[in-house]
Amino acid sequence: SSKWARAMAILREFEEKCGTPDAKLKQVADAMTVEMHAGLASEGGSKLKMLITYVDNLPTGDEAGVFYALDLGGTNFRVLRVQLGGKDGGIVHQEFAEASIPPNLMVGTSEALFDYIAAELAKFVAEEEEKFQQPPGKQRELGFTFSFPVMQTSINSGTIMRWTKGFSIDDAVGQDVVGELTKAMKRKGVDMRVSALVNDTVGTLAGGKYTHNDVAVAVILGTGTNAAYVERVQAIPKWHGPVPKSGEMVINMEWGNFRSSHLPLTQYDHALDTNSLNPGDQIFEKMTSGMYLGEILRRVLLRVAEDAGIFGDEVPPKLKSPFVLRTPDMSAMHHDISSDLRVVGDKLKDILEISNTSLKTRRLVVELCNIVATRGARLAAAGILGILKKMGRDTPRQGGPEKTVVAMDGGLYEHYTEYRTCLENTLKELLGDELATSIVFEHSNDGSGIGAALLAASNSMYL
Ligand code: ADP
Ligand code: MG
Repeated sequence: SSKWARAMAILREFEEKCGTPDAKLKQVADAMTVEMHAGLASEGGSKLKMLITYVDNLPTGDEAGVFYALDLGGTNFRVLRVQLGGKDGGIVHQEFAEASIPPNLMVGTSEALFDYIAAELAKFVAEEEEKFQQPPGKQRELGFTFSFPVMQTSINSGTIMRWTKGFSIDDAVGQDVVGELTKAMKRKGVDMRVSALVNDTVGTLAGGKYTHNDVAVAVILGTGTNAAYVERVQAIPKWHGPVPKSGEMVINMEWGNFRSSHLPLTQYDHALDTNSLNPGDQIFEKMTSGMYLGEILRRVLLRVAEDAGIFGDEVPPKLKSPFVLRTPDMSAMHHDISSDLRVVGDKLKDILEISNTSLKTRRLVVELCNIVATRGARLAAAGILGILKKMGRDTPRQGGPEKTVVAMDGGLYEHYTEYRTCLENTLKELLGDELATSIVFEHSNDGSGIGAALLAASNSMYL
């Protein structure tokens, strides 16, 4: 019927606009490398902030003692208690508590957000077993993972530059995030000192390095996306501070804000961006990360419903509601292996109130999931290739290639198998056979929390 012809035309056009042939990905990777150089050259030199982290040493394995970590960066936040065993002792003990951030606090005031967090921290500390308590006169120390752009001024201070991922708390912008937390902890009676402020990518890098010495890059694919890597201080012209003994500095790229004319943007991406809390920002993030993939899919489905009427004459009202279709649901539909695509049928019914869908309709939905996820995963792979190029690890060396472990974390990477497989295969394909085996992906499960505790330890005031 002409209905289906129209639906297929929309799908094919979308597919074409989302195309990421290898040649395009190489252009994206090159653009990433160029922007990395520009962001390192001068403050504000690029959309890539390439933030100095003040982390010039990654964990050695000698870290010892009980440390806390707090991970705030998206939908949930976690508090951890970690006991580090010192040389060859590893992680002796770890426990955590998790809570979700009430949506009203994501767009409220700084005080309200930090009071809530400090109150959760107070509960966690109140349950501390005696054997984990600090000796008299010694304060508890915390590694604070805060995964939004921060201009750091030291290892444990830095101002919030802007919000991302659905957060928008105006009065916190320009404030010292550690100062805000410290004030809230005081209000809630938590006796704790923040000894390290880290991005989740930096925490993941640190946590990854602790278990695997060849870790040099960390990538987060969760609600948002970001990457960090180890740079030579000599290659950071904007750094005017002292050269650390290691000669190295971890850089928080804030790659979610990457943008290039080579990115395959569609009308749906433009509309999503325009209607977001941060229009014009985080374009790479909006094409690749968990907060947005389901929303892109919803927008395409809405268009198919409006222009081709495949869900009936009336457009299903639920389909008009922004962010109703979440990436975990998209992922469940994409992974549906039942012959009648039962999961797809159930999701369409439960979430969008579209019942009695035909197999043909369900197949179309799966195809759209595949287009959106494939584009995101391939672009993320191109981003990693850009980092490897910057590090000089994209070409074979004499004596065999250097092994590079990429520490990966985030709910999208962890749970969306199609996405993850596509990303990993794409990077290997782009690197070619000879180098493919020198790149290892390691899922650094909750590396960012452990990493923050490790960095709290190595930056302890009692050392
Ligand atoms: P955050 O990024 O908020 O710190 P996570 O790393 O846990 O938290 O990532 C959560 C995000 O991961 C969710 O917002 C969602 O987009 C994505 N996600 C979670 N579960 C799945 C899933 N089963 N399939 C696809 N994406 C998922
Ligand atoms: Mg996280």
